[in-house]
Parts: sequence; C-alpha cells; structure tokens
Amino acid sequence: MERPDLTQALGRLLGPAGPEVGCDECFDDLDGYIELELAGADADAAFPGFRAHLAGCPACRDEHESLCALVGGEQAL
Ligand SMILES: [Zn+2]
Repeated sequence: MERPDLTQALGRLLGPAGPEVGCDECFDDLDGYIELELAGADADAAFPGFRAHLAGCPACRDEHESLCALVGGEQAL
C-alpha cells in the first residue's frame, strides 16, 4: 500500500528550496565541490542545491565524506 502522506512529509523534510541536484550530477561534480570546499571557497554558491542533496542522500554523503578524507589527507591540512 502506498503512503502518500509519508512521502510528502519526507519530501518536505528533505526537499531543498532551490534546484535539486541528482545523484549523477552529484557524483560528477563531487571532486570540484570538494576542491572548492577545501580551498575555502563558496562551494555552495558554485554548486547550488549540492549541499541540500548531500543532506538528503546518504549514498552521496558517504561518497563526499570518503573523498573529503582522501583529498584532505593528501593535502595534510
Ligand atoms: Zn545522491
């Protein structure tokens, strides 16, 4: 049985105010986004909707975290 109420509630919780980034775009732009983040630049302005997607997508958040650790480790900040 469908639970439209639950889906709607989740959509309201997870849904970003701006344009949503899909997982494909997310993976494509992830290294660019992290580069800006690590450089102290405004990554959120360069990739609108990216942070919102990371917040709502465990798979991409995982990917972001491991890539961050990898790149950050290489740079030995
Ligand atoms: Zn995703």
